[in-house]
Parts: sequence; structure tokens; C-alpha cells
Amino acid sequence: MTRRLSSGDRLVLASHNAGKLREIGSLLAPYGIDVTSAGELGLAEPEETEDSFAGNARIKAHFAAKETGLVALSDDSGIEVDALDGAPGVYTADWAETPAGRDFAMAMERTWREVQASGAPAPYTARFVCTLCLAWPDGTDRLFRGEAAGTLVWPPRGTEGFGYDPMFLRDGETLTFGEMAYAQKEPLSHRADAFAKLKAGALG
Ligand code: IMP
Repeated sequence: MTRRLSSGDRLVLASHNAGKLREIGSLLAPYGIDVTSAGELGLAEPEETEDSFAGNARIKAHFAAKETGLVALSDDSGIEVDALDGAPGVYTADWAETPAGRDFAMAMERTWREVQASGAPAPYTARFVCTLCLAWPDGTDRLFRGEAAGTLVWPPRGTEGFGYDPMFLRDGETLTFGEMAYAQKEPLSHRADAFAKLKAGALG
């Protein structure tokens, strides 16, 4: 039997990323699911040792499900830049790491610098990818992948959102994700695309 989430279920969000928690919490809000986060439950962050979004999403969701005995939902996401053969990809967050914490201005500068160095012609096509993993304490899971296609802009624009939002212009839009209030970004995002698949296949 295909496993599903139902109203009244207790779910742990297997993420410590404030931006992701806000967005996934908002997507789940209408469904009557009792949502708590890994941070609230004092869970550690497992190491993401796989080289795919799906692999890392599975690590995070299975870890949280085993530790808590609850159904867990994780998000592994990032940006793939065509001129960089898909980099930073699963290493999107790593490009922002500094000894003092994550610095996304630095990560966006590196991305732009490497795109310029690649010699690829503009427009610089890219996509945000989001893989959601729902895992149950008995070790079963389901994966849902979403994408948002667009181009990179420079300099970064806007202070909304998180991560690489200010340098990403979704196809068909004039504002970057960093210039959009969340309500405007939500229906256009890779996370909403993945969530729509989760909703169709595993909710209710
Ligand atoms: P991870 O999934 O924890 O490995 O980290 C994914 C990284 O991708 C985040 O830290 C962000 O930098 C970036 N990212 C994922 N989703 C978004 C988004 O919606 N906007 C901007 N950056 C994002």
C-alpha cells in the first residue's frame, strides 16, 4: 500500500534552515498536520554525504524519523547553473560556508565569477531544484522532485527570501526571487513544484 500523510498526523520537518522551514511550514499549513521542527526537538544535523539531492534528502528524513519515531519530511535543494555543468548543485550551501557561518553574498559572487570565467554566452540559464523526502520510522520513504527554471542576474537584487534568491530570475518574471514577497515567490518556486507532487501523491 502506498503510504500517505493525513490530517492529524504528527510530522517532523527534518531541516535546520530557517528559510526552508518557513516555506515548507506555509505549504503544509492548510492540511491540518501537526508540524514540529528538528530544531524544536533538539535533533542533530546528519552529515550529507551523498552526491545527489535525493540521496541527501533521504539521509536527513530517515535520520529524523528514526530519532523521533515520527513521520519526517526533509528538503534537499540547490541551484544548478548550466554554464558550470550543474554546479554548485548539491554543494549550493557549501559554497556559502565560512568559519563564521554561511555567507550567501560570497556564494553568489563566486557563482557569478565562475560563470564569467566559463566564457559561456548570456543568458546564463539555471534552475533551482528541490527534492522532498517523506520518511516513516519503519524505513520506508517517498521522494518528490520539483524545479524552477530561470536565468542568473548580476548584481543581486532584493532582500526577500534566502540563499541565492537575489540572483535568480525565474522564466517569465521581471522580479528576482529576492525582490518578491514570499506570497509571490511561493507558487513559482521549486519547493512548491515538489510540494504539488507530494500533495497529489501522498497527502490526504
Ligand atoms: P541543503 O539542501 O541544506 O544542502 O541546502 C540547499 C541550499 O540551496 C540552501 O542553503 C540555499 O542556499 C539554496 N536554496 C535552496 N532553496 C532555495 C531557495 O528557495 N532560494 C534560494 N536559495 C535556495
